[in-house]
This record gives sequence, C-alpha cells and structure tokens, in this order.
Amino acid sequence: MNYDIVFLDRVELTPVSRRALEGVGTVRTVTVTVQEDLLAAVRDADAVVYHLFPNQLTRDVLERCRRLKVIGRIGIGMDQVDLAAAGACGVTVVNAAGTQAAAVADHAMALMLCLARNVVASHNSLLAGDRRPPRDFMGFELEGKTLGIIGFGAIGRRLAQRAFGFGMAVQAYDPYVPPDAIEEAGATPVGLTELLGGSDFVSIHVPLTDETWHLIGANELAIMRPGAYLVNTARGPIIDEASLVAALRGGVIAGAGLDVYEEEPLAPGSPLLALGQVVLTPHIAGWAIETQLRSQESVVKDVARVLRGETPVSPVSSGSGTAAPSHSPLTGTWRRPGGSRSATQAMLPYTEWEETGLPHPSATHPFGAVPGLRRIIETEGPVTTDRAYKVYIRGSGSTRVTKLARSKLDQAVNRLLAQKQAQIDELGSPGDSEYQRVLRVPGSAPVVVREIGSRDLYEVPMNEVVALMRQRLEGFPRASHEELMRFVLDTYGWKRLTDKARTYLTDAIRLMYEG
Ligand code: NAD
Repeated sequence: MNYDIVFLDRVELTPVSRRALEGVGTVRTVTVTVQEDLLAAVRDADAVVYHLFPNQLTRDVLERCRRLKVIGRIGIGMDQVDLAAAGACGVTVVNAAGTQAAAVADHAMALMLCLARNVVASHNSLLAGDRRPPRDFMGFELEGKTLGIIGFGAIGRRLAQRAFGFGMAVQAYDPYVPPDAIEEAGATPVGLTELLGGSDFVSIHVPLTDETWHLIGANELAIMRPGAYLVNTARGPIIDEASLVAALRGGVIAGAGLDVYEEEPLAPGSPLLALGQVVLTPHIAGWAIETQLRSQESVVKDVARVLRGETPVSPVSSGSGTAAPSHSPLTGTWRRPGGSRSATQAMLPYTEWEETGLPHPSATHPFGAVPGLRRIIETEGPVTTDRAYKVYIRGSGSTRVTKLARSKLDQAVNRLLAQKQAQIDELGSPGDSEYQRVLRVPGSAPVVVREIGSRDLYEVPMNEVVALMRQRLEGFPRASHEELMRFVLDTYGWKRLTDKARTYLTDAIRLMYEG
C-alpha cells in the first residue's frame, strides 16, 4: 500500500528516515501558514508528520481527515494536537519521547554554569571593549552546592547524573515518582517547600499541565534562598513570569536561566531582556544535532510502524485506546492507561483529565449524584481574525475553569485584541464555572470567546443536537445510531445513556433524517 505521508514543515530526511518511509508511502511536504489552509493539506493524508508548524490539528480538522491513521511529532510537546479528538477518531499519535533528555539536561547544566561563572556577562563585556577587571565577574563553584530538581523524569534524572559529576548534592521533588526510586538515583526526595528553601539552583523539568501552571509564583520565589538561581528548560507558563521579574528586580533570588517563556517567541519588549541577572536562550534546549536526528528517525520509524499495522514504540495516544487516557465513545468513561502518571501528563499539555472520588454537588443534575467527578479541559484552535477561540470545559456538571484553561483563554483574547485592535465589550462572569468574554471588532459582529460548560442535556436545543449528529456523520459516515448518541453525550459531558436521554436522542436522530 502506498500511503500518503504529509510533512507539515520542511524536514531534511536522514537516509535512515528515508528508508523507513520508502515502501510504505510517498512523502509530500506542505507548508501551511494559516489555519484555514490546514484541512486542505491534510484531509487525504494517511500520516501527518511535523516538527514545527504554526497551526493546530484541532478536533474539527481531525474529524474531517477520513484516511488519517497516524500523527508523528518530531519533538516532545504535543501542544498542537487535540489528543482526545485524535483518540476518538482512531488516529494514533507518536512523538520523540525520551530522545531529547540528554540535550535538555546538557542545556540546563549550561545555563547553571553560565550563571555561576558569569559567562555571558563577561563575554558581552569583552565584545563591548570594556576592560573590566576579572574580579567584576567573580563567580562561584558548583561543587558542594545543592541542586533542586522539580520533576524527576527522563530529563530530571539525566540532569542529576550530570550534577553529581560536578560534585553537587541533588534533591528532587516529584510526587509521582516513589521516593525510593529517587534515592536509588542518588538524590534526596523532598517536598516542594523543602526543595525551594534548601537549593542553590532550582531546575524545572515537569510537563505543563494545569497542576504545574504557575507552579512557581511569588510565594514559591519568596521561599527560595536570596542567593539561589532558577532554571527553566521545561515550559514557560510553569513560572509566573511577572512574579519572577519582580523577584529578580527585588533581589528575592539571585538570577535565572531560562529557555522557555510564557509567550514565545520572547517579545522584544520583555522586561526579562533588561535584567542583568538572567541568561536567556530561545527555546533551544532540544536543538542538538544528534538529538534532532534521533528524534526524526525515531518518529518516522514509528509512523511507518503504525502504517504497517505494527505497534509503535513511542505512542502518545493510540488509535486503539491503549496508550493515552482516551475517552471511550462506547462506555462514556475515561480510562487511565497503564504506566506512570507523568507520562499521562506529558502527553496532554493542554488537555487535562482528572478523576476524584467526590460526589456530584448538584442534586438537580439529571443523573443525580455521580460517584466520580470527571472533567476534561481542552483548548481548541488558534485565534484567527474570524474565528473565536474556545475553551471547552466538559464534565458532569461540576467542572471548573482551571488556571491553565483561563490562561490559554487570556492569551488567545490578547492575541485577538492585538491582531484586530478589538475592544473588550463585556467581561462575562468569570466565576469558577463560567468564563466568557465578548469582543467587539470595529465594523464586525462581536466575537464570543467562552468557556462552554456542561449543560443539562434537555437544555440543549434539539436543532443543536441534530447539527452535532450531522457533523459527526460527515466525518464518520458509518457511525451507528448508538455511536451518534454516545458522541452527543460525550460532547456535553454526560456519563450515562439513561432511558430518558435515549428517548431524547432518538428523537434527534429521527429529526436528522427528516430534515
Ligand atoms: P517526563 O515525563 O519523563 O518527566 C516529567 C516528570 O515530571 C515526571 O517524572 C512527572 O512525574 C513529573 N511531574 C509531573 N507533574 C509534576 C508536578 N506537579 N510536580 C512535580 N513533578 C511532576 O518528561 P521529560 O522528558 O523529562 O520532559 C519534561 C519536560 O521538558 C517536557 O514535558 C517538555 O515540556 C520539556 N522539554 C523541553 C524542551 C526544550 O527544548 N526546552 C525539550 C524537550 C522537553
């Protein structure tokens, strides 16, 4: 079978990668700049591979790709794919997990060395012809210092190995790694507060999730030692950047080494650029030649495996629902896969899933008390000039707009404001379960940017249910009536197909055929 493999950016294939693809398909390279052109580029593809491209493989796009079997990300972060939608559409997603750990750990070490020995400041001084005496660049030794690693996964562990080589003591905070596993690796397991207060360097290696969004803010910075340095090569929003700037200005900590930022690329006017105690790099920690080649070959081979019907080595989410948490249209339940929680979180940067044992707080909920409270949060699509950016909050009636969801929404709103010189017309009730902003672009209709919370099934107008079913059938022409009903339930976050819901949805199916 000659599969159609679309590369969404120009990637120079190594001979190994080329061989991996030969025999399974033909590679087309397509450069897409605006989201509106993405669907045409990928609609007929069997496989989509990308490294960096400026758009989003949204639910909307994925549901229209009828032949798509696999998405390969030559990298780790999966910020550009709606993983839940990919799973629901039977598309396997693979990435370059584990291939970048050495490079990122090296980079964190490089940032620490630059900070300890004033490498950048002294280099700049020489370039400027400024003959300052060496004592102006007095540094300190890493040996004997304590490194605190937040997130003891692939990168955190590699960094610990490097730090031991420099004679540092290492403590680590990772609630998802058993303390004895941290001890076995030679580090001391500690709580976050202990780590912050007892480290000379704090280096962040957690994925961006709602839990880690602004994990380091003003309170955490205040716990750090005044002479300590913060290093971040993970994701920008894990640090509250405004608080970091304030802490650096106020001497709360000594300095920071950053590869990632809340908004990337870093804006030319960022206050970070005006600070003397920072070393900044433009998200290059993974950009080492061996790393990139390894990542490419690993992903391309996995894409070929999936096309041949074999099991991939680095699945992020599997079309058959075995690797990532996936929503089952048939049972309406969320499954946590085997394996560590960390893997789950790393897979789902913008999609958060949580289960607790809390009872449903609303006695008036159509399904009454539910034993487990479930929620999923997804962002969908980039802001374009004519399209609202939505944050969906779906669940069984007690969903929350989390910090991460709200921050994504805010970023989207700000981008839209900048692009269209729009004004905020109205700020919706930004409570715990609602978040909405209405933007008015001069000369055009208002754009509603909103969180869509769960609604009572029977509050959803019938024509909306019908439209949803039609849309589903377009993507999945062979969907059974049962599947259509499950799809609607999923969309609005209901858990069970009760007799009452079945009657309501059967009416919708009848109307769909009549209309
Ligand atoms: P990993 O999944 O192997 O490790 C992440 C660790 O973080 C896990 O052990 C997990 O248990 C832990 N963790 C999760 N939530 C936590 C929390 N709330 N508190 C403490 N620990 C928590 O991932 P990895 O390969 O080590 O990568 C880490 C991150 O590095 C990636 O998610 C990615 O965002 C980033 N990264 C950046 C670059 C770059 O170029 N700057 C390149 C590759 C990866």
